[in-house]
Amino acid sequence: MSAEARAALTERLVYRNESDKLDLLDENLTQTFLIAFLIDIADAADAVGCKVLLTAVRSDHPTVDGPHGHNGGFAADGWLLNSAKDGDYVSGDGSDERFAKWLAGMDASPYRRQIGLGGEAHNDKNLAAITVQLDRDPITGFLDSSVDHVHMGSTIA
Ligand SMILES: [Zn+2]
Repeated sequence: MSAEARAALTERLVYRNESDKLDLLDENLTQTFLIAFLIDIADAADAVGCKVLLTAVRSDHPTVDGPHGHNGGFAADGWLLNSAKDGDYVSGDGSDERFAKWLAGMDASPYRRQIGLGGEAHNDKNLAAITVQLDRDPITGFLDSSVDHVHMGSTIA
């Protein structure tokens, strides 16, 4: 993924922390597969007229999750927004169709490896929008921590 492609992607996303943007711009911190996945995720948000908020990528992810997760630059956490303003959340509790459509769009990406539904996002409607293979390694859809967020993990090869 070129530096130009990374820069173009970063302009499409909303950030809670500046470090998340810097992580995406640095090819030593985030993987090409994650960039490709996030482009598809941003496209899926565009398709429902929304924006993607990132709340953690690598530098500010609070836990050690191994070389194929945030720590290896293969994952990001976030949410769907009505606008480019952090806090202008789209409801993820199943009451807003756009959220499940966004999840279905990211699920269709060839770069999708894991989608974790945390807190409010963990409900039957959202689970129905994504591929859930809990018997697989890696599992492809799962309940994340109780904090409201969506974990987006890219393919690793
Ligand atoms: Zn995560």
